[in-house]
Amino acid sequence: MDIPRIFNITENAHRIHNPFTSEKLATLGAALRLESGTRVLDLGSGSGEMLCTWAHDYGIFGIGIDMSRLFSEQAKLRAEELGVADRVEFIHGDAAGYVADKKVGVAACLGATWIGGGVAGTIELLAKSLRSGGIILIGEPYWLRLPPTEDAVRGCGADSISDFLILPELLASFGDLGYDVVEMVLADQEGWDRYEAAKWLTMRRWLEANPDDDFAKDVRAKLTSEPKRYAAYTREYLGWGVFALMAR
Ligand code: SAH
Repeated sequence: MDIPRIFNITENAHRIHNPFTSEKLATLGAALRLESGTRVLDLGSGSGEMLCTWAHDYGIFGIGIDMSRLFSEQAKLRAEELGVADRVEFIHGDAAGYVADKKVGVAACLGATWIGGGVAGTIELLAKSLRSGGIILIGEPYWLRLPPTEDAVRGCGADSISDFLILPELLASFGDLGYDVVEMVLADQEGWDRYEAAKWLTMRRWLEANPDDDFAKDVRAKLTSEPKRYAAYTREYLGWGVFALMAR
C-alpha cells in the first residue's frame, strides 16, 4: 500500500507537506495552548513534523497514520532525532475510517481531507476519536480570489470552482456543521513558495540520480512546467490554513 509515486519523489525532502513553515507549525501549537500529556491524533501525518515538534516543544503524545511508506519511515527517524520516539507512534496505513482506541484531546487532518471524503466527512471521522471538549484541526485550501477561468481552476489543481470556498464561507461552513472556529493559522505566500519551490530542486536532483528510471520523462515534464503553473495559478488564487474547531 502506498500513495502515487510522484508524491514520494517530489516531496521526499519535505518535512512539512503543506504550505506551512516550521514557524507556522509552532505558532499553531502555541495558539492551541496545548497541555503536556495531551493526546493528539493526526490522519495523513506525512513525515510527522507536527507530532514530533509538538511532542518535543509541548510534551504531547502523538499517534499518526499515513499511507506513504517513505513519509512514515521519515516520521520515525524524525522522532528519534528529536528524542521523542517514546511519545509518538507512526502507523503506515490507510487512515480512512481510522478511530483511536483511546480518545484524544486534539484530532487533526492537515491537507488530506479526502481521507474522510471531504471536510464534513473528515470532521465526522475525527470526532469519533475526540474526547468531549476536544479540538479538531482541519488544514484546507480556500480561494484567496475566485479564479476567473477554467484554466485557472485546473491550474490550481481543482476540478471545479466548487472544490474550495472563499475564507469567510469556509469559516461559516464549519458553523453549519455545528462547530465553533476557535482558532486559525493561515499560510502565506512565503510558505507556499517553500512548499512548492522546494519540489523543483528535489525533482532536479532526483532526475540527476535516476536518468534511466521509467518515471524520468514524467518528472522532467513536471519540472519544466511547474514553476510557471505555480506562479500563474496556485500562488495567486489559493490560500491554505489550519482551522481549530470545537463542537457547539
Ligand atoms: N499532514 C501532513 C501531510 C500532508 S500531505 C503535513 O502537513 O505535512 C497529505 C498526506 O496524506 C501525505 O503524507 C499522504 O501520504 C497522506 N495520505 C494520502 N492518502 C491517505 C490515506 N488514505 N490514509 C493515510 N494517509 C494518506
